[in-house]
Amino acid sequence: MASLPVTDHDERYVYRFGGGVSDGGNGDRNLLGGKGANLDGMASIGLPVPPGFTISTAMCARYYDEGGAFPDSLRGEVANGLAHIEAVTGKRFGDAADPLLVSVRSGARISMPGMMDTVLNLGLNDDTVAGLAAVSGDDRFAWDSYRRFIQMYADVVLELDHGAFEDALEIAKEDKGLTLDTELSADDLRALVTTYKGLVEEQWGKPFPLDVHDQLWGAIGAVFGSWQSDRAKVYRRLNDIPAGWGTAVNVQAMVFGNMGDTSATGVAFTRDPSTGERAYYGEFLINAQGEDVVAGIRTPQYLTLAAREKAGARAASMEEALPDTYVELARVFDLLETHYRDMQDIEFTVQQGKLWMLQTRSGKRTAKAALKIAVDMANEGLITQDEAVARVDPAALDQLLHPTLDPKAPRDVIAKGLPASPGAASGKVVFDADTAEKQAAAGVAVILVRVETSPEDIHGMHAAKGILTARGGMTSHAAVVARGMGRPCVSGVGSLAISAKDKLFRVAGREVKEGDIVTIDGATGEVMLGEVATVQPELAGDFGTLMAWADEVRRLKVRTNAETPLDCRTARRFGAEGIGLCRTEHMFFDAARITAVRQMILAEDEAGRRAALAKLLPEQRSDFAEIFEIMAGLPVTIRLLDPPLHEFLPHEDAEFNEVAAATGVAVDQLKRRAAELHEFNPMLGHRGCRLGITYPEIYEMQARAIFEAAVDVATRTGEAPIPEVMVPLVATRRELEIIKALIDRTAAAVFAEKGRTLDYLVGTMIELPRAALKAGEIAEVGAFFSFGTNDLTQTALGVSRDDAARFLGTYVEQGIYPKDPFVSLDVEGVGELIQLAAERGRATRPDIKLGICGEHGGDPASIAFCEATGLDYVSASPYRVPIARLAAAQAALKAK
Ligand code: ADP
Ligand code: MG
Ligand code: MG
Repeated sequence: MASLPVTDHDERYVYRFGGGVSDGGNGDRNLLGGKGANLDGMASIGLPVPPGFTISTAMCARYYDEGGAFPDSLRGEVANGLAHIEAVTGKRFGDAADPLLVSVRSGARISMPGMMDTVLNLGLNDDTVAGLAAVSGDDRFAWDSYRRFIQMYADVVLELDHGAFEDALEIAKEDKGLTLDTELSADDLRALVTTYKGLVEEQWGKPFPLDVHDQLWGAIGAVFGSWQSDRAKVYRRLNDIPAGWGTAVNVQAMVFGNMGDTSATGVAFTRDPSTGERAYYGEFLINAQGEDVVAGIRTPQYLTLAAREKAGARAASMEEALPDTYVELARVFDLLETHYRDMQDIEFTVQQGKLWMLQTRSGKRTAKAALKIAVDMANEGLITQDEAVARVDPAALDQLLHPTLDPKAPRDVIAKGLPASPGAASGKVVFDADTAEKQAAAGVAVILVRVETSPEDIHGMHAAKGILTARGGMTSHAAVVARGMGRPCVSGVGSLAISAKDKLFRVAGREVKEGDIVTIDGATGEVMLGEVATVQPELAGDFGTLMAWADEVRRLKVRTNAETPLDCRTARRFGAEGIGLCRTEHMFFDAARITAVRQMILAEDEAGRRAALAKLLPEQRSDFAEIFEIMAGLPVTIRLLDPPLHEFLPHEDAEFNEVAAATGVAVDQLKRRAAELHEFNPMLGHRGCRLGITYPEIYEMQARAIFEAAVDVATRTGEAPIPEVMVPLVATRRELEIIKALIDRTAAAVFAEKGRTLDYLVGTMIELPRAALKAGEIAEVGAFFSFGTNDLTQTALGVSRDDAARFLGTYVEQGIYPKDPFVSLDVEGVGELIQLAAERGRATRPDIKLGICGEHGGDPASIAFCEATGLDYVSASPYRVPIARLAAAQAALKAK
């Protein structure tokens, strides 16, 4: 066996695997990439892996540092790696009698579309092809391998126009009246090789490289080069992958799935990646190589008999066609799951009955499958409950919480394909990724319709609500990527005749044009014309189990931001433990009330305002009563009126006329008053508690409405509501003192009138830097703080959220802020203000209640910060409540 590679400097770049050698040690994926680390890992546990070596990700960085060149030392290391493969296989690279062929495969830390595609059969040329034919005794196989190699190399390494090669293949088949690649004879393929070489020379200007070492270095360079391709960059940006990671290169001995009817290639999952069901799941193709399965060239066959029968397919399953190999494969599935303790996505090849493992990784799965697999594996004892909780991405739950198609809704089904990624989506049809992106940016829901998708379509798939393809199986590019992104997808709708050029498709005698609305159901594969009604999701089952486990470890409470009865009910169903922010201004916009609100704002004096407020009081009281009833016994934080008054002003003449009619004040006078209310910087203007200081009667009415409603509900239902009255935009202790006195007075008056008291709290939002600094004093008055991180971010950064779009993107791109600070809390800056306020507040009032109620309350990274800071609760919009519960549990686990 070859000795350790020799290098002339201390860094080592080449790591061998297979044949009893493992240089990778513990399979460090940061160094070897995911594919390389797991090839080494599989070989190390004794699975059949063709021998090979990995050039580490560190080489990628060095390659770019050196301006796209390799250090000399790498030549020696690669030669050693090749020697290892030669020793294990007993074949020599470039040997005309019995040639070693290799694949060259990219492999970043995490699987990354956009990277260079794999080149198979490398090492073939006019001499070695003869040796391959002689040794295999199969002329056809040798020439098929050679033509595949040239085609792939021209496409992925030389980046020539692959259409010309595909056309040549089609013509070769047509000339003979054939439909399948496998029907071409050795002579046909030999002629095709000549044609291909001509195409290379014509497009590339140089002959196809026949020197096997030139072939190898060309492919290695292309893998490293692809790290900076546009596709790879887009993918990294969408997935927050640092450019510094780099990719590894794997060079591995070829095994052949195209050596006749006892040979095959396939992809499999150890459990169903769509549903999570514990059943082997996969597809394979007899007498085929590598990507034939994914590319959708021939229709793949099912792995298991059960799956074949369920689908009503005729072609034999692997379980039937290659029973011994199937048993061996199933044994490997179980070994891999036990070893990696997760559901695996596997690539394998069978060469004349012998099974070879070519890849394994944790499989991408739908949110539904992620839940089921986590819960099942914990129940099977493979992982712990805590691990199950830690495994499910909180953001992915979003997929499950949204409505699915109403089974009773009428639907006009125009086609049926494969249920490639579950979920339902309606939208306007578009035929290319760029249009999808543009339309989505303009707020239009779109369904991306393609013959098949490729990595160039990623941005459009991301922008689309759903994806529909005419070709490709359950493991096609479209299906895999859609599942990863959580987009509903229906693939392989063979009956779709798509004309991207004319922007339409035809199916079942119908024509659907760009802009027409369709609905797809990724769980059934149905494609429907028009929009179809939806129903609420099921929250019991695995979802309920995992959430219960999460709740066991969670310390942070989760409340919701809600003010309508519908939102409150939704949030309760999702497990909200109270309301963290009930905004009262939305209640003012109601058509029936807005005139009274306008009357109040435009009033010239207190008497005028009180007259209008008297009309609003019963309305507010019934709003609050309804919310208190829904949130029975849970705390409800109600924020007093916050926005600048001018937001409610009339704009149209008709609106002014209405107010005039209601008040008897002349339109001119109303308009003059409206003009007076104009503010230059309303965000920092007459709003928040400043309204309560200048027009106390407004807050007095709101406080009265709250307490009257609370007492009424307590009396009627027997369960006392827990009102927490929250004063917005406080900067000083004195402001809170004045307003708290007003609230306490009002409460006392209501309790006296009703002859009944109840507990309540008065507290404040912390949303101005001054309030954070003076939190110690403010806590002398307020019983709770709620960090209003939207405004706190605006005021701490001096950035208006509504105007940030113009520059924030550039800021994030240049790393000035790591993420949009309005989406994920600026932990360094705003976070420090929160920490400081929490500390100072607690120093004054040890039992002060602390919570957060900005958009950040539903963001997992921000929730982790809240856990670390020891806040009592986070408050999120209703649909984000489960996400917050799970994220809070994960944060607690990390802190353990
Ligand atoms: P990807 O990351 O796109 O899946 P891979 O490197 O895994 O790319 O390879 C693409 C296809 O080629 C897969 O089907 C894989 O199983 C097959 N393949 C890769 N290396 C070999 C090899 N040494 N022998 C046979 N097939 C191979
Ligand atoms: Mg690929
Ligand atoms: Mg692969």
